[in-house]
Amino acid sequence: MFNTSKALICRLHKSQICIGFCVSIKCPQNSIYCQLCLEEDHSDHMESCKEFGQIIKDLSISIKEKKNHLDKIREKQIQLSQLNRHQIEAYEKQIEDFRNIQGNLSKQKLNSFSNEQIIMLKEEFQQDRQLDDCKFNKVFSKQVKLNGTPNLIFRINKEGSLNQ
Ligand SMILES: [Zn+2]
Ligand SMILES: [Zn+2]
Repeated sequence: MFNTSKALICRLHKSQICIGFCVSIKCPQNSIYCQLCLEEDHSDHMESCKEFGQIIKDLSISIKEKKNHLDKIREKQIQLSQLNRHQIEAYEKQIEDFRNIQGNLSKQKLNSFSNEQIIMLKEEFQQDRQLDDCKFNKVFSKQVKLNGTPNLIFRINKEGSLNQ
């Protein structure tokens, strides 16, 4: 992994090649060391001295961990934007439905109510608004946890009425 043919000569010990890197933040010596530097300058904190090959390996692990972490954050970001989109759609649909209900009521078209609209109307006037918004968010986050994709206002209404 580490190319020894291009090995770096130690600045202090010209006969020596550099073999590793001291990762100690407190160490005032040259970070890159040869065998003699290691023995003379870093002997009291050998645990912080890593050979180049080891650093390459350790960096692979760090990169992998960070990639995993990044993937998780990206996944969460996608879920969050999906959640926002579904919330917006759900509110838009509610507003549209309530406008329809309102329109039918003001024209006294009382026969045109669907069962779904009747349930919506009942639910709207059941509990105080704050509680309702809180429940609305709860149902969404529950759905995200369960299957990652919250959908259908129908399901929200169904779950909402079950929770009452
Ligand atoms: Zn040296
Ligand atoms: Zn050191």
